[in-house]
Amino acid sequence: MGECIFCRIAGGDLPADVVYFDDEIVAFHDRSPRAPVHILVIPRRHIDSLGAAAVSDRPLLGRLLQVAAEVAHAAGIGASGFRVVTNTGAGAGQSVAHLHLHVLGGRQLGWPPG
Ligand code: 5GP
Ligand code: ZN
Repeated sequence: MGECIFCRIAGGDLPADVVYFDDEIVAFHDRSPRAPVHILVIPRRHIDSLGAAAVSDRPLLGRLLQVAAEVAHAAGIGASGFRVVTNTGAGAGQSVAHLHLHVLGGRQLGWPPG
C-alpha cells in the first residue's frame, strides 16, 4: 500500500498536522477543512473503508470512535457538539481509500448531510 496517502501519513513519510497518535491510530487535521474543526482519525493499518472492515476489526473500530471523541474534546468542541462521519464508497463521497473518521465541529452542522 505504498501509494496510499494515509498509509504514508501514518508511516511518517508524508507530513500532516498530527493531533493524536498511538501504536494503532493517528489523528491529524484535514488539509481542506469543511468546518472550523475538521480532524481525520485513521488506523495505521490499511483498511479500504468501513465496508471492508472485518469482525476481527471490532476492537480497533471501537478505539477509533473513542479517539474521535477524545480529539473532539481536545479541540474544544466537546461541549458545543461535533459529528463523526465515515464516507464509504464512491457514492458516499469517499475519495481516499483508507478508512478514516471525519471529526467535524465548531459551527452549526446541517442535517441531513448532502
Ligand atoms: P473522503 O472524501 O475520502 O471522505 O475524505 C478524505 C479527506 O482527506 C478529505 O476531506 C481531504 O481533504 C483529506 N485529505 C486528502 N489528502 C490529504 C492529505 O494529504 N493530507 C491531509 N491532511 N488531508 C488529506
Ligand atoms: Zn492506506
